[in-house]
Amino acid sequence: MSRERLYLFDTTLRDGAQTNGVDFTLNDKLTIARMLDQLGIDYVEGGYPGANPTDTQLFAEERNLEATFTAFGMARRPGRSASNDPGLAALIEAKADAICLVAKSWDYHVRVALETTPEENLASIRDSVRAAKAKGREVLLDCEHFFDGYKSNPQFALACARAAYDEGARWVVLCDTNGGTLPHEVERIVGEVVQVIPGDHVGIHAHNDTEQGVANSLAAVRAGARQIQGTLNGLGERCGNANLVSIIPTLKLKPEFADRFDIGVSDDKLKDLVHVSRALDEMLNRAPNRHAPYVGESAFATKAGIHASAILKDPATYEHVAPEIVGNRRKLLVSDQSGKSNVLAGLERAEIVSVLDGLGVKVDKDDLRVGQLLDLVKQREAIGYAYEAADASFALLAWRTLGTVPKYFDVEKYDANVEQRYNARGERVTVAMAIVKVKIGNDEPLISAAEGTGPVHALDLARVLIESEDEKGEHWTTVGVSPNIIDASFQALMDSVVYKLVRSRAPA
Ligand SMILES: [Zn+2]
Repeated sequence: MSRERLYLFDTTLRDGAQTNGVDFTLNDKLTIARMLDQLGIDYVEGGYPGANPTDTQLFAEERNLEATFTAFGMARRPGRSASNDPGLAALIEAKADAICLVAKSWDYHVRVALETTPEENLASIRDSVRAAKAKGREVLLDCEHFFDGYKSNPQFALACARAAYDEGARWVVLCDTNGGTLPHEVERIVGEVVQVIPGDHVGIHAHNDTEQGVANSLAAVRAGARQIQGTLNGLGERCGNANLVSIIPTLKLKPEFADRFDIGVSDDKLKDLVHVSRALDEMLNRAPNRHAPYVGESAFATKAGIHASAILKDPATYEHVAPEIVGNRRKLLVSDQSGKSNVLAGLERAEIVSVLDGLGVKVDKDDLRVGQLLDLVKQREAIGYAYEAADASFALLAWRTLGTVPKYFDVEKYDANVEQRYNARGERVTVAMAIVKVKIGNDEPLISAAEGTGPVHALDLARVLIESEDEKGEHWTTVGVSPNIIDASFQALMDSVVYKLVRSRAPA
């Protein structure tokens, strides 16, 4: 059976850039656009040329993308001609492959927000699509508040969509701008729209305000829409947009969609999904969501002992898809609840095995030292260590118990203090100062001092997890426990440094 093509449209750089606290530089935008292009996204929406300097510059750049690079902007304002609207003119002149126009499709908004008539709104859509087409651009029309509009006045909402389609818009995109529509409503309404406009010209733009962004997108596809708009990691204002990082693997791996549709993302590129998702988080300086479907650290993590031993026999017993398909990995969490099978599974992790191999240590499940390691994990968890969240600390514990870890350095003493004072500009500032005295081998001790802002959050909890990263983007997490928060942090930090040295096979 030949499969139908579904198109993916990414709006991370436009709608995603509306997220509170997100501020992309030109370079960020170019990097993300390339990443999306390599992933196989069909349309990359860059932003609003003419509306802000970064976006204007972005559209002036040489981009060399396979994807259809799309500029976004408003249809002509009421009471003006298309040629006499500077905003529309700048949009049409932008160096873009496609133009996505946004227009109202809810009669209430036309009256109250635009303060114009339904007829003038329809004329604005027709004129703007015609003007953009005349410049040889592919045209999309985002019908703002389409679903709310359709519920209040279906004839008018449809007339807006129809006006764009009749003028030759390639796509008419139905937007759930407030994000309050539910999947069964989306399925019904899209089903009615595709009676009037062919589904292969209909797109869905869902927001996540009832956490249905992904579900609404899939419901629209079931009803006949053939373009899905969304963002990486569901970035977007308020509760975000439909999350393409969840939608893409669902389309590729769930038979209902995979058997009927092709998308631009190849099986090979699907393996980059974890990387793409984390690269965006890194750029935004955000901790990745451990519980993100498909790509989170915990998406394929199992703690309970029975589940863990079943997974070792056959992963399909507790996994809906294989983690490697999306570039993730299975994680069996070592904890006091789990017993020996989890510790053994933890010991099978590639980074643990390769270091032990290097030391000539072969792990046998009946080895007494495996029992010792399990006891140690239990003892330490009883006093507050959490190895399930700190795989690098577990690795160190395993290397130390089953093999050896070189003594790279000895911290003779450290001193950390926090001071609040006025700076030279008379502003009140808080600074942290740390001095560490380290001895390496028989050399003279090294003394190093540094100043920082040093915020220690969660002062009530003297268990500290530290997440570290190297220049290649590898992550590891370590844990420290002490009644003193600084000491707990220090332990976790030391584990992190030693872990990296062992992994890199640094000479002692
Ligand atoms: Zn939106």
